[in-house]
Formats: sequence, structure tokens, C-alpha cells
Amino acid sequence: MLTIGVLALQGAVQEHLNCLNSLPDVAGVTVKKAADLENIDGLILPGGESTTMGKLLREFKLTEIIIDKIRSGMPVWGTCAGMILLAKSVVGEATCHLGLMDITVQRNAYGSQLNSFTTNLLIPDISSSSIPLVFIRAPYVESVGAGVKVLATVDDKIVAVEQNNMMATAFHPELTSCLTFHSYFAEKVKSSKSLPS
Ligand code: GLN
Repeated sequence: MLTIGVLALQGAVQEHLNCLNSLPDVAGVTVKKAADLENIDGLILPGGESTTMGKLLREFKLTEIIIDKIRSGMPVWGTCAGMILLAKSVVGEATCHLGLMDITVQRNAYGSQLNSFTTNLLIPDISSSSIPLVFIRAPYVESVGAGVKVLATVDDKIVAVEQNNMMATAFHPELTSCLTFHSYFAEKVKSSKSLPS
């Protein structure tokens, strides 16, 4: 059984838990405090508001502990605001949050809530069938460092990336009935568990 945590300070938490709990041999649990990080094999940083989530991470003294866990190999997946939390650089902002992924992101890159959209895309690294992608006040990745693999682009903009134990998507698989991304992440967590620590 894999236990995958969802950071539950703000944002689309329940939707991720529902997806995780629909997968065989996976339990989705909330992460609200440092002790909750002890018992998980992987972590999802959900969509929401990155400024608010970053502030709450600092207030609850979770920032450094999560950074240490990810640096020591815990798989992490950031969706939308979660992608912004992981980025080393955010366009127009002097500071970042966790600052772990070698990506520069542009927040609200597609405009306001009204410019939210859905599209379907074939992402060969993830699945042989096309996947529905939901973008809500989404960021995109403006540039990536050498160690980052680009998984998906929409209209030439990078919207999904992977770097070792970290992955990030500008869109929200948890808001669709398609579990492909959650299965992919669960596989990533499973293989990291079988690595010698
Ligand atoms: N626009 C939000 C931010 O910048 C992200 C939106 C989302 O997670 N759906 O944090």
C-alpha cells in the first residue's frame, strides 16, 4: 500500500484525495502539519493560490521540512499553484517558495478566471491515450534548466515538466475523471519506495 499526502492548507485538496483513493493500493491522506509528513511516501501540492499557500507553509513552519524531504528523494507533484510553489523562479517576483525545480514560471499566464479552458492532449510519456487538461488561472513554464524534462506543451507553451523525483503540471487532472496522471505519479512513488535509501 502506498500512502500519498496532499498538502491541505488551501486549495483543491479533496479532489486529489478522491482521485488517489480511487487507485488500487493507494491511500490519500491530508498533510497539515510536520508530523503528517512522517508517514507518507509521496506528496501532492494542490492548485489554489500560491501566495496564500506559501504564506501558510511559512506560518506553519512546513517550508524547510518539505524542502528537506523532497531533497532527500520524496516524490512530489505540484498542480497549478503547486507548480508555482516548486519553481526556483517566478516571473516578476523577487522570492520563490520551495524553490526546488529548475523552472521559471509565469503566474496567471493565460489571463483571468474567465480565460480558463479545457483541451485534450496526447502526452506519450504519460499515456498512449489523450488526456483532458483543465487550465484555471494557470501558469506556464517560461524556461527550464538542463535537468528538466518537458512532458507537455500546449500552443508552444510548456505545461508539464519532470525533474528527478519532482513533477509539475500547470493544469488540474484532479478536476477530471481521468486518473492517468495520478496513476503515473503513484508509479513514480512506488518505484522510489523500492530504491535503497
Ligand atoms: N493563479 C493561481 C496562483 O498564481 C494558481 C491557480 C490554480 O492553482 N488554479 O497561485
